[in-house]
Amino acid sequence: MPVYSHSRISAYQNCPLQYQYRYIDLIRRDVESVESFVGKLVHEVLEQLYADLPRARAAGAGHFRAQFLDLWRARISRSVRVVREGMTLEDYRSLGVRCVEEFYRHYHPFESGEVVGRELHVEFSLDTAGSYRMQGYIDRVDRVAPGVFEIHDYKTGILPRSGALRRERQLTLYEIALRQMWEGVLQVRLVWHYVAHDREFVEQRSLDDLQRVRMDTIHAIQDIEAAAVFPARVGPLCSWCEYQEICPAMAPRRAAAGAGVVVSEPLPEINPRTGQYLLFDTTPVR
Ligand code: SF4
Repeated sequence: MPVYSHSRISAYQNCPLQYQYRYIDLIRRDVESVESFVGKLVHEVLEQLYADLPRARAAGAGHFRAQFLDLWRARISRSVRVVREGMTLEDYRSLGVRCVEEFYRHYHPFESGEVVGRELHVEFSLDTAGSYRMQGYIDRVDRVAPGVFEIHDYKTGILPRSGALRRERQLTLYEIALRQMWEGVLQVRLVWHYVAHDREFVEQRSLDDLQRVRMDTIHAIQDIEAAAVFPARVGPLCSWCEYQEICPAMAPRRAAAGAGVVVSEPLPEINPRTGQYLLFDTTPVR
């Protein structure tokens, strides 16, 4: 059985055909949504920020703004695709800069805890027999007191709906991983940074929560392992799917586009607090 990840399971739950293309047929497409592109760059800059905190404290927000812009210039290519009508690459470049600068100003001088992991690779099992293996990368882990840890996750997308984080699976799995891999983990806080909105959300899971997510995830993996066919599931995420040019379910849309019919996406929502466009959330695929 393969080693699963949160994104692998999410791909299947979003669209079984997308899962087949990505994880069974191993088809790689030379396209990437701009939301995913910006998300990766922001993650890379924040990872570098926490790599050397004394230097980061002294460097100022402008240093990390420049770092983001350097990465943007070095990596931007024709394969980066803007989906949302009315949005431009420049809008997303500005958004990435804002994410980095606001994060820096919000958390400077970065003294909330001892950073014990950055882009931390975790591999763990959901069952005692080791049949259901999982892996993931945690953006950051801080030790805030003896035995007390925080799992930090950077999101460049839209704010979560009310109550959605109670059911969030990814960081709960990471807590299971830390408790399994490290000795002396007494308490874990899960911290989501919605950097495009300068908002932070903190939650704690009970042992019952961990057990529920563990079992739900095992059942999700069992569903995938039992699947004999991987049907297309057309939905709002198709516009961000890297396989839409080869997906049979997208044939009508391709034909319409070929006939000059504009197939436009709904306009993005506006954040009433900031007046900024909300972005579609994309977790980097691993
Ligand atoms: S375009 Fe839509 S239906 Fe086709 S594989 Fe991608 S997500 Fe699935």
